[in-house]
Amino acid sequence: MQTLEEVLERYEAVIGLEVHTELTTLTTKMFCGCKLEFGAAPNTHTCPVCLGLPGALPVPNKAAIESIVLAGLATNCRIEKRSMFYRKNYMYPDMAKNFQTTQGPIAFCMGGHVDLEVDGPAAKERHGLAKAKAGEAFENVTVTEDGYRAHVGITRIHMEEDAGKMVHFGGEEGRIAGATHSLVDYNRAGTPLIELVTEPDLRTPEEARLFMQKLRQIYLTLGISDCSMEEGSLRCDGNVSLRRRGATELGTKTELKNINSFKSLHDGLLYEIRRQAQVLDEGGTIYQETRHWDPSAKRTIVMRVKETADDYRLFPEPDLAPYDLSDEFIERVRAKLPELPDAKARRFQEEFNLSAYDARHLVESTATAAFFEECMAQASSQKDGGKLAKPLANLIINDVTAWLNANPGQTLEGSPLTPGRAVELMGLVSAGTISSKQGKEVFAAVLEEDADPKAIVEARGMEQVSDTGAIEAVVDAVLAENPDKVEQYQGGKTGLIGFFVGQCMKQMQGKGNPQLINQLLEEKLS
Ligand code: ADP
Ligand code: MG
Ligand code: ZN
Repeated sequence: MQTLEEVLERYEAVIGLEVHTELTTLTTKMFCGCKLEFGAAPNTHTCPVCLGLPGALPVPNKAAIESIVLAGLATNCRIEKRSMFYRKNYMYPDMAKNFQTTQGPIAFCMGGHVDLEVDGPAAKERHGLAKAKAGEAFENVTVTEDGYRAHVGITRIHMEEDAGKMVHFGGEEGRIAGATHSLVDYNRAGTPLIELVTEPDLRTPEEARLFMQKLRQIYLTLGISDCSMEEGSLRCDGNVSLRRRGATELGTKTELKNINSFKSLHDGLLYEIRRQAQVLDEGGTIYQETRHWDPSAKRTIVMRVKETADDYRLFPEPDLAPYDLSDEFIERVRAKLPELPDAKARRFQEEFNLSAYDARHLVESTATAAFFEECMAQASSQKDGGKLAKPLANLIINDVTAWLNANPGQTLEGSPLTPGRAVELMGLVSAGTISSKQGKEVFAAVLEEDADPKAIVEARGMEQVSDTGAIEAVVDAVLAENPDKVEQYQGGKTGLIGFFVGQCMKQMQGKGNPQLINQLLEEKLS
């Protein structure tokens, strides 16, 4: 198979996502009062409504409607005052009612958009970017200094309910294939679920991954779900097709179902794009089918050919009245909107004089954004504390993030690195007490020894000597010891400066402030 880059030379990849999110922060199910609890003993949170017993009547959960309206407002959707529920009919043991209650053509939220900022290596996947200049616009993107901004349309966000969970026994890895029997747990049946559908506006696997990450960050900020991909409260289907560059009609798509990690989303789409290109190049046909990404085998396999909407016989739910949301209700929800990641990034940029890049990456996680703000609150009580914004942003975006990534399950909260210690550490570096290289060493030591940066610097005798008098004495001595080298330097061999700096450092056991040494040497040699 060809590489992504080679494929994208000739084909345009078109990607649309369907993102399912369980509203885990609610206390009860969508249409009954059963408790929502992950990991409870099987079938302990059920009742006649979510078990679909005859005569049981659903009552909608108002808090769930608030959550979906929040999601819609946060993603620039139009809130539809009039929408209703439908029955999507299918028979499967995980759904005791034999139909799923969902929404029809009009959902609570319609026609929104999210802007994606793509930078660094992620931006390299986008075809045509290399030739474009900052400020230029093509397709749905605007080129920026360090990448581009892509406009991604959101078709709709609708409300539905989750099904129960099947557990298969006797087969391989709990799969249904080869299983001797299956059990069903209805605790999850009736869990409020929102499904967001994007327009086919994404063009690279990286854009798809960034979209999911950004959406997750928005939902977490709204507090409507714990968005755990491992536990399945956030999952998505990736739809992808190819078309020849220049073509306007969409190609036939395949759908990767139930993707449960950002990496799988990226890698699955990447594989599927390359596979489709190979099929098309060999004169074959892409069939509209559902495929499964197998991360260990690193390939996709067919699950089923696509069923059509007609098979479900969607019809209006007779037990639930159509909605008539009032302006007051929508405004009340709007008033609850917290500061969203984009707005927070803009504020960081202005308030702390940061670059767009730094601000954007600081708000990628709620925890790092809060940590940074707490650092700045503490720094502001110091003289010139505002100057620590950039060093602190670097520390968080690079070192802290790398440390968190390397230690899954580790959180900033409760870790040895308190905001106070981060400020102290960057203060030491900024003041020249330690070099930035030593700063990294102290950072690691803070985490390992749970000690204050100042104490570590003292205990290890790391202080740089920045006393001009002391350095000058050493510089004079070094120059006096090497009259021949001084002559050569003054004769034009300025590369010898490195030799002099090295000699000074040696005499000072590596603790001299290198900038000061350099400066004094240059003064005396000129
Ligand atoms: P289906 O009825 O097969 O579920 P939808 O029209 O509901 O298809 O679209 C589902 C998702 O697939 C949406 O995110 C949409 O943007 C995307 N999509 C639709 N057609 C294509 C296509 N040809 N290529 C890639 N994505 C597509
Ligand atoms: Mg669909
Ligand atoms: Zn129930």
